[in-house]
Amino acid sequence: MIDYHLHVVAHGDRPMTVENILTYCEVAHSRGIRQMGITEHDRYLEDIDLAAFQEAREKSQDVELRLGIEIDFVPGSEAEMDRFAGALPYDYIIGSVHKVAGEDVDVPGDLSVYEKWDTYELYETYFQNVREAALSGRFDVIGHPDLVKIFKRFPAQDITPMLEETADAVAESGVVVDVNSAGLRKPVGEIYPSRKFLEMFHRRSVPIILSSDAHAPEEVAAGYDKSLKLVHEVGYREVTTFKNRERDTLPL
Ligand SMILES: [Zn+2]
Ligand SMILES: [Zn+2]
Repeated sequence: MIDYHLHVVAHGDRPMTVENILTYCEVAHSRGIRQMGITEHDRYLEDIDLAAFQEAREKSQDVELRLGIEIDFVPGSEAEMDRFAGALPYDYIIGSVHKVAGEDVDVPGDLSVYEKWDTYELYETYFQNVREAALSGRFDVIGHPDLVKIFKRFPAQDITPMLEETADAVAESGVVVDVNSAGLRKPVGEIYPSRKFLEMFHRRSVPIILSSDAHAPEEVAAGYDKSLKLVHEVGYREVTTFKNRERDTLPL
């Protein structure tokens, strides 16, 4: 199994040392993870210690390490996104939408963006950004594709058509979808993407990675009992892996 979206530096909580990386690897190994991908947020690029990563990769016996990055997809910031994408020899690049019109939708305890916007409009704009991110050609993976549900603020209207349109764009773009268990630890209490959204991806043969989006060692592979059950029930039998931006698969 893989855990392909997680943060060692997290939000500047700890340095990227060999020791810290190996602590994550130990937890990963104890939970049956064979490949672990470190994907710091782009704004912590300066904290990524490539030498420490490479040393940890050599020392890690049981868990193969990969290096990725999680780039915040912000329309209009193409030069900045390209700078992040070109900075290091990543195995893969995750593009995630966290913002709508410049404002974060996932700040703990801050629901101001949800108060300000009509919820349907907010969702429409969020998924428009996801479609643009997928079709931009910049990314290998789309991170937590329905993050906007994090606070359980759902529109009254049916969002099926916008999800279908988004699944179409993702399938057309060829990117991989991040099945991310962090939502289980948030108010919404469910995996990103929802079962319904994941079924849409599966019907279109969109490949997946699995991740915990851990920001601390104890969160590595957290919620995987539920993630594995979900992806199996939806019909997935393999996950995508990356090395030097090239794809392979592992059976689930
Ligand atoms: Zn994210
Ligand atoms: Zn993340």
